Amino acid sequence: MDSGYDLLVVGSANADLVIGVERRPAAGETVLGTDLVTSPGGKGANQAAAAARLGARTGLLARVGDDAHGRMLREAQREAGTDTSTLLVGGAPTGVALITVDPAGDNSIVVSPGANARLTPEDVAAAEASLAAAAVVSLQLEIPLETVAAVARAASGTGTRVVLNPSPPAPLPDDVLAAADPLVVNEHEARYLLDDGAGSDDGGDGDDAPERWAAALLERGPRSVVITLGAAGALVAERAPDGPVRTVRVASPAVRAVDTTGAGDAFTGALGWRLGRGSGLEEAVRFAVRVGAAAVTRAGAQESYPNAQELEKEFP
Ligand code: ATP
Repeated sequence: MDSGYDLLVVGSANADLVIGVERRPAAGETVLGTDLVTSPGGKGANQAAAAARLGARTGLLARVGDDAHGRMLREAQREAGTDTSTLLVGGAPTGVALITVDPAGDNSIVVSPGANARLTPEDVAAAEASLAAAAVVSLQLEIPLETVAAVARAASGTGTRVVLNPSPPAPLPDDVLAAADPLVVNEHEARYLLDDGAGSDDGGDGDDAPERWAAALLERGPRSVVITLGAAGALVAERAPDGPVRTVRVASPAVRAVDTTGAGDAFTGALGWRLGRGSGLEEAVRFAVRVGAAAVTRAGAQESYPNAQELEKEFP
């Protein structure tokens, strides 16, 4: 399978290296921790794994190093069912997130983007056929912004729908924002974009804040907006042609959250797949909140993602 994807994810792949500590070290300090746990991560790899495990025809355009972490990431995608023919190798070591977690669950993270920073617009051009044949392409911001922009531009020429999750948040060119359908943000990212990254947000607070953020974000150009609201689910906002903004809140199933790591990526991967299979935005979000809820009931990121049978059984 090298074309015809329901979802092509273009983004990052990282090895997450996690050590539990009693107390996170201060400058100059050394502390002892638990055994190292190495797991596959990175927003792009997570989204692809989430979609593939559910049964989506999924591709991942990403770059890893020619090293053990890169091999682990490829194997994790293969196991999930992702087509790895556009997973590129070399140029720098695989991206790594060094994570220390204390007993309260607070963490300190150092990210080395490594090979992710070497995913270039030329790599996008070389994968042009896969991009053109994909129903949906999903983007995040853990790769160079010029590469994200190249995908958005190419997709607008081929009619491939763009799902954009601007995370970690950064200022976005207008043409990239305008390509998003939807723009998927959590509350923090929504506030950031509305304020262009500085100081207080212009959306304000209050019970209807997400509705106001969504309306304000739509003014920036995306064709639709989804704001994820953690345990409260998500908000969908679309503008009718020449009409008013329509917003709908989609509640999450109530669950006992064990670990929310990677929940946003599970949500977005699932959303992209359903859109790729022709669902409407609200219907796709109703599906994605079930996948997000399933992901928080288990530990880890990719390890916590349900397959279709598990999803139907646990969140019918
Ligand atoms: P993360 O960074 O933890 O991956 P995020 O901050 O990007 O997530 P959230 O809004 O916290 O985004 O969560 C994304 C989605 O995951 C939510 O829309 C929801 O569907 C699901 N989710 C997250 N937390 C919970 C929870 N406690 N209970 C049920 N669903 C949840």
